[in-house]
Amino acid sequence: MVLNNGETRRLITGKLFLNLGTHASIPLVPGLVEAKPLTNIEALELGRPPGRLIVLGGGYVGLELAQAYRRFGSRVTIIDHGPRLAGREDPDVSEEVRSILDAEGVEVLLSTDVERIDGRSGEHLRVGVRTPEGHRTLEGTDLLVAAGRTPNTQGVGLEEAGIELTDRGYIRVNERLETTAPDTWGMGECAGSRSSPISRSTTIVSFGTT
Ligand SMILES: Cc1cc2nc3c(=O)[nH]c(=O)nc-3n(C[C@H](O)[C@H](O)[C@H](O)COP(=O)(O)OP(=O)(O)OC[C@H]3O[C@@H](n4cnc5c(N)ncnc54)[C@H](O)[C@@H]3O)c2cc1C
Repeated sequence: MVLNNGETRRLITGKLFLNLGTHASIPLVPGLVEAKPLTNIEALELGRPPGRLIVLGGGYVGLELAQAYRRFGSRVTIIDHGPRLAGREDPDVSEEVRSILDAEGVEVLLSTDVERIDGRSGEHLRVGVRTPEGHRTLEGTDLLVAAGRTPNTQGVGLEEAGIELTDRGYIRVNERLETTAPDTWGMGECAGSRSSPISRSTTIVSFGTT
């Protein structure tokens, strides 16, 4: 284990509980990394409302931050490549969320792919998109990426310790949150069941602090 001051310590334990969490996924879109987009972390620390906020991702995180900034006075556009907002919810829920955002003046572009991004978040951005109606270029001042989560399981030495990951990089656990290594459990958002990235049992133990 490496401490913040660079010192290393070795801890010996009989039981190990891994609760590593997730971070915002950054999709492979030309220009996205260079644009230095906001993630949920920076978006919650921003000391000003963006003039024109473009939100990549119409899931829970994108929706709540889009609505919040719209209410702070920003002009907001949400882009999602799926055909509806909050795509894991029932269609009637997605429709209701859409109508609430429409009424609040949030622009929503669905079934839309981002092709490339030029510029830098916090300054000026041009976002090229392909919508069902054709190509468009959006102009914005700030870009928020809310396009899913990536588990914090890389570079920790899990696989070397016999702790298997799922094909999406989550810690493989059974219904008791046991990993594939003895006396080791995975919990919270970094744990994934055999059938889905976030298991029912994982959802129960990750009820929220935020
Ligand atoms: C914008 C946003 C809004 C949300 N709103 C809600 C909500 O309203 N209600 C709700 O229930 N949930 C909400 N969630 C989800 C909720 O935040 C997560 O479900 C919860 O934080 C998951 O907890 P966790 O312990 O698995 O991970 P985390 O809270 O991410 O904690 C993991 C911790 O492990 C640390 N860590 C990572 N790697 C290492 C390492 N190698 N060594 C040591 N430490 C490490 C991390 O720094 C972090 O402190 C929201 C999430 C976001 C992003």
